[in-house]
Amino acid sequence: MVAADEALRIGLFGGTFDPVHQGHIELALHVLARCRLDRLLFIPALLPPHKQQPVASFAHRAGMIEAALADCRQTDGRVRCSRIEERLPAPSYTLNTVRALISEEAGCRYSLVIGADSLLDLPHWHRIDELLQTVDLIVVKRDEIDRAAVDRALAALTPAFVPNPGHCDRWHGQGGRIALYLDDIELPVSSSAIREELAKGMAPALLPPSVLAHVRRHRLYGWKEAV
Ligand code: ATP
Repeated sequence: MVAADEALRIGLFGGTFDPVHQGHIELALHVLARCRLDRLLFIPALLPPHKQQPVASFAHRAGMIEAALADCRQTDGRVRCSRIEERLPAPSYTLNTVRALISEEAGCRYSLVIGADSLLDLPHWHRIDELLQTVDLIVVKRDEIDRAAVDRALAALTPAFVPNPGHCDRWHGQGGRIALYLDDIELPVSSSAIREELAKGMAPALLPPSVLAHVRRHRLYGWKEAV
């Protein structure tokens, strides 16, 4: 058996990624470095249970993540895209995904990486109590959601997370699980805003160039070349 502190530490960054943007990429790199993870997986959802259904197909969304990561030299191969949800039953419940990953690679310590908006939504996730006993949480600041709202959301979860008196950005859950909050990065960008710009024929500043090339090649999100 591998001791918890010797286990490979893997971050799981799920989402619709419709499309992946520079905020997602910077968040992934920041979490990788700050939380000393060995690996971080982008996990595009086949059919997200908590959100509107994606505009682009799974193949396009995964392809855009792979293109953006291929362009990003800083990742050292430690940030990858996992297409696991393509093979799992829909809708894409995170608990099922995490269990499938654990059955493929046991002995790792998995952390779910989410923006603070997703933290507020966690109580609605499928079998959230089991999920919170299976993974650690890494929450990243987003939008106007402040520290007090993060505190309240973590305390209201079942099982609840309690603050660690020695570390203001760390909470304890059940069974040795921890939650970390990173507020030293803020990325004011969203996929929906990017889709709106693309539909107007604009090239969004926070869209990685390889993702814009993919959008143009396949005319996604209503993109039309200017004549
Ligand atoms: P949309 O605008 O369509 O809702 P999105 O930009 O939120 O999309 P998702 O693919 O839904 O992108 O997000 C995946 C995960 O990344 C979620 O946990 C979300 O909270 C987080 N996330 C996305 N963008 C940011 C951001 N700018 N700052 C912090 N977290 C983010």
